[in-house]
Amino acid sequence: MKSMTVRTYPKINLTLDVLGVREDGYHEVEMIMQTVSLFDEVTVTITDDHDEIRLTSDKFYVPCDNRNTAYKAAQCFFEAFPRKKCGVEIHIKKNLPVAAGIAGGSCNAAGVLKALNKLTETNVGKRKLMAIGEKIGADVPYCILGGTAVARGIGCDLERIANLPRMILVLAKPNFSVSTPEVYREIDAMEIIEHPDTSGMISAIENEDIPCIASKLSNVLELVTANKHPIINEIKGIMKECGAINAVMSGSGPTVFGIFENMKDAYKARNALRKIVRYAEVTKTRF
Ligand code: ATP
Repeated sequence: MKSMTVRTYPKINLTLDVLGVREDGYHEVEMIMQTVSLFDEVTVTITDDHDEIRLTSDKFYVPCDNRNTAYKAAQCFFEAFPRKKCGVEIHIKKNLPVAAGIAGGSCNAAGVLKALNKLTETNVGKRKLMAIGEKIGADVPYCILGGTAVARGIGCDLERIANLPRMILVLAKPNFSVSTPEVYREIDAMEIIEHPDTSGMISAIENEDIPCIASKLSNVLELVTANKHPIINEIKGIMKECGAINAVMSGSGPTVFGIFENMKDAYKARNALRKIVRYAEVTKTRF
């Protein structure tokens, strides 16, 4: 029996643009992603005792069957490397909010692929793991790559850009979840009037110009979620009142993040936000 525990880090979207819908129904997107220092802990154990995939979690609301992205990751790994097939036990200590727009499930899947790659001594490179990850979900390749990157196509065409300067962040998730497919369906029915300035954001990151980065935070999906849930704007307002340079929703939401200049303001915002939401944390960018 061999075992390892990996920390799996989620992402935020500095920008998220929807460019159109493909014939197969997938959306063409352009988004700048950044890993943050919050994490789930995923323990992967390989065993000769059985040849099944077994998954457990410390949270009752995490599905423990083949609906779980981490479970799918083990299936896809052995489909790609059938000669490495063995029994797998996965335990997810879920600290991150679920269905939150921060790719929590996708980063669990990325963690399982990385762990199985090592534990089974398959030792393929990142690009091969990313190609396997694409079969699990559009965000999984990015979760394998990590850092600061632009994602295009359906989110799997990744290009690394300059590292975002180190930043203090506060993440807050309202006490409800959103369905990503539903948010995308609704954006199709709307006219996108203002698109994010993706190339301007890339330049701002290259120039390490934090005020300019903050001013260019933009997510076209925010309109959909914030229209239905006024708490999104309420959270942004509290963050700014507490000193955030700017704040925006991540992914399809409903998690909102704000950029702060110092820890004191960040903790002030976290404490104020905890009066209206269950999940609010101070964190940093991670590379
Ligand atoms: P988004 O796709 O909007 O970025 P997210 O990645 O934050 O969302 P997840 O935490 O992956 O969202 O949860 C989305 C759905 O997937 C939930 O309904 C949950 O039940 C299911 N799910 C499948 N696998 C996992 C997992 N490993 N962790 C959490 N949720 C999971």
